[in-house]
Amino acid sequence: MGKVIDGKAIAGVLQEKMKAQTAYFSMQFGRKPSLAVIMVGEDPASAVYVRNKIRACEAVGINSQSYKLPQDTEASYLIDLIDKLNKDSATDGILVQLPLPSHLDAKKLIPLISSKKDVDGFSAKNIGALMLDDRTGLYSCTPLGIIQLIKSTGINIAGKHAVVVGRSNEVGKPVAMMLLQNHATVTICHSKTESLGDYTRMADILVVAVGKEKLITADMVKEGAVVIDVGINRNAEGKLCGDVDFESVLPKCGFITPVPGGVGPMTIAMLMANTLKAAKRNVQ
Ligand code: NAD
Repeated sequence: MGKVIDGKAIAGVLQEKMKAQTAYFSMQFGRKPSLAVIMVGEDPASAVYVRNKIRACEAVGINSQSYKLPQDTEASYLIDLIDKLNKDSATDGILVQLPLPSHLDAKKLIPLISSKKDVDGFSAKNIGALMLDDRTGLYSCTPLGIIQLIKSTGINIAGKHAVVVGRSNEVGKPVAMMLLQNHATVTICHSKTESLGDYTRMADILVVAVGKEKLITADMVKEGAVVIDVGINRNAEGKLCGDVDFESVLPKCGFITPVPGGVGPMTIAMLMANTLKAAKRNVQ
């Protein structure tokens, strides 16, 4: 029987440790680390994510500046706001909650955030830093959290075969790169991969970031594998679930993350860690 990786508990421990660091920062510099959170429109899922991020800020002693902008906000307004926050020395991190309404082009707007304040790690400079193994960069939060969750199992990533399902810029690609950084042999699968199960069955570490309920069934998982389920879906009963058929995979795998309570809380903990990292560099 596999063990369930308690992402919520692991995130809680990390946040508790960060509390001491943010307190020390505040004492040294006379202000808290500060994160600007920009949300445009009323997307209900985004509203929940933003609320959780702001709550986490409160819990670890980070100041949050919340900008809730109307659905019809013009690009020029957002550009001016990002510019103002980039220049504000007391703002350490800037986050624009995605998705943006269709009239706003995230591909054009996100790159305007200074790479030093890009706590989501989405900028070309920060992705480049990851590619070049430059640890001063701000790396994408979800992949950072995934690596911590894998390490929490006690397995040594080096030499293991890691299979990543999904190749998005936010999750699939950066997590593959981080697994490589940790000396895994990495295979990336995606929507055009033929015979997905042939690859997933070879995985000592299986990371699934697709967004399709029950994409991964027990017959696609190697005995004893570490399974990280990144997906967030709603099942027919309206309940949150991941991409992995949890019930059937649990008895076969070595470790598995639940949804909810796995990757999600760690993503937020890593956002806090990135904000603290950006704040320390901002005051140097
Ligand atoms: P995305 O839509 O950008 O990418 C999905 C990827 O899945 C694509 O690269 C695509 O090639 C691949 N794919 C699609 N169908 C496939 C199939 N049948 N077989 C193999 N690969 C297939 O999504 P994303 O932003 O990477 O997010 C993936 C999932 O993770 C979503 O459910 C999202 O909500 C969730 N997510 C969770 C967190 C978290 O903190 N828990 C963070 C980010 C994303």
